[in-house]
Amino acid sequence: MCGSKPMDALRALPEQAFRLRARLIAVGLCAVCFAGLIGRLFWLQLCTGGWYTQRALGQQLRDTVVPADRGKIYSADGALLAANSSCWTLRASPREMPEEKLALAAKGLAEILELDEAKLLEKFNDRRSNDCLLRYRVERETADAVRDFCAENGITGVRINQDSKRWYPQGEFLASVLGFTNVDNAGVSGLELKYNDTLTGQNGVVLTAVNAWGYTLAQSYETELVPVEGCGLRLTIDANIQHYLENALNYAVQEHHVAARSVGIVMEVNTGAVLAMATTPAYDPNQPRVIADKAARAAVDALSGKERAAALQLAQQTQWRNKAVSDLYEPGSVFKLITCAAALDAGAITRHSTFYCGDSISVAGTRFHCANHKRHGSQTVTQALENSCNQSFIQIGARLGKQAFCDYFAAFGLREPTGIDLPAEPKKSLYYTADRMGPVELASCAFGQSSKISYLEMAAAVCAVVNGGKLMQPYLVSDILAPDGSILRHNQPVCKRQVIQPATSATMREMMEAVVLYGGGRNAQIAGYRVGGKSGTSQKLDSADEKARIASFVAVAPIDDPQFLCLVCLDEPHSWTTAGGSLSAPVCAEVLEQTLVYKGVPRAADTGSADAQAAALPADGDSFDGA
Ligand SMILES: [Zn+2]
Repeated sequence: MCGSKPMDALRALPEQAFRLRARLIAVGLCAVCFAGLIGRLFWLQLCTGGWYTQRALGQQLRDTVVPADRGKIYSADGALLAANSSCWTLRASPREMPEEKLALAAKGLAEILELDEAKLLEKFNDRRSNDCLLRYRVERETADAVRDFCAENGITGVRINQDSKRWYPQGEFLASVLGFTNVDNAGVSGLELKYNDTLTGQNGVVLTAVNAWGYTLAQSYETELVPVEGCGLRLTIDANIQHYLENALNYAVQEHHVAARSVGIVMEVNTGAVLAMATTPAYDPNQPRVIADKAARAAVDALSGKERAAALQLAQQTQWRNKAVSDLYEPGSVFKLITCAAALDAGAITRHSTFYCGDSISVAGTRFHCANHKRHGSQTVTQALENSCNQSFIQIGARLGKQAFCDYFAAFGLREPTGIDLPAEPKKSLYYTADRMGPVELASCAFGQSSKISYLEMAAAVCAVVNGGKLMQPYLVSDILAPDGSILRHNQPVCKRQVIQPATSATMREMMEAVVLYGGGRNAQIAGYRVGGKSGTSQKLDSADEKARIASFVAVAPIDDPQFLCLVCLDEPHSWTTAGGSLSAPVCAEVLEQTLVYKGVPRAADTGSADAQAAALPADGDSFDGA
């Protein structure tokens, strides 16, 4: 036995080593497995925990968004301009629909909702789906028809959720300023776009408990996050004045067969507040894609295929465009007010300076003459404005010089966007800088051709001419309102800069009154009110039609204590004349007279001179020959 011990020991040695190795391997394997498990656990718990939580919750809860109303928009006098109306969004949960009625449901719903039956059936046959959109934002009748159809045929799994969509109770009224929203209730143009963040509310949500298959549980519970309506806007626009302007423009567009729409702006000259702004014909923002203009719609409908689609798109973009803010135009003789104010303010001329208008005037070899080859003879500055005398203004421009001309042009805000709270203002207008301006360019710029500016820039600049020289920033929103109607923010008028001296402005007011009393603005006279103004008849230099004109007029009243400015532009009128003093001045007079009466500005004793019907006026001097 004793001898066996060493033998045993000897035999045991490799056995022990083997066991040790086996143990080590086992421990090692266990460690690897544990490490793997710990790693996996670590991953699940810490890295993807949120995903699993969401997934588990998603199986138990279904959230339904409760859309918030957009903030309402009111005019300064309290008229409701943009509101919300109830509508319904329809969804289906195919897995909750009875299998044997899928075909019937697809047929019936396709018919009511004007959808493709085959595609609908394909959607319903996906039995895993518990949410498929049928139609967004339908009217009550459609929602009722779906509800009745489902009830009559025992079709479950169709959800009808109340929704909210934008509604413009006044239809076409103020359309180009308000803009409109898309199917997601987001602003697409106008104030709706500019103030989209302010107007957009906070959607609410209803959480509904459902089982693992997405069915609403019998003992379901719901929690609700209440939607919050967006903030509202109170505009500077006065609904009454806006009506005066739209009515007068619509009449003028029909009467004078205006081909390229008309623009009107009424501003408070001392604050820059826009009281009315219109581009007509307008469109209905409740149905923005329908072409409102009958002739334009007929032209689109006469086409087919791709041509029709392109024409439709162009017609839509044209009708949505707010010309007052987004278009550039040659202001023509209305611009003589700017040249005159600049020359007086710079001391290049005095009100007693005189000029001579002969057959024509030659500037560096280019001949300019007055409209209809009129020879005005000796002219004071006031007479030059009354007669819209090109030759005088060419001389006034030359005395001012190109550098000063360009400096005043910029100071009047004609190179830059006005900064009005609307989208789609051109980033810059078209103008000559002093280094690119020769004597011929200075001459044509001085009487209002060769530069293109926006209608709103022109209106704001004329406000500065008459209001003591302050360039006010035009604006449309006076207050941001909380949903309960209280004021969250009030916007104050902004003065951008002093452009001319108050004394120059006073002289300009007298001269503008003379234009209306004795010159080309006689059709803007209003019985019992003092009015100042200036006409313009500009050639559309980039138009294929050589006879295309913009007939415009700007009027300010009362001119001795200026409060209201009205700019009216008829783009391509086809009437007995194209003269702004004949076609646009009466529109300004009508709008201003109604505005003055409405605002309670007292009428002086009747002067008796206002019923001068279509006075024989001096022609606007917007023509010149290059020779
Ligand atoms: Zn002349």
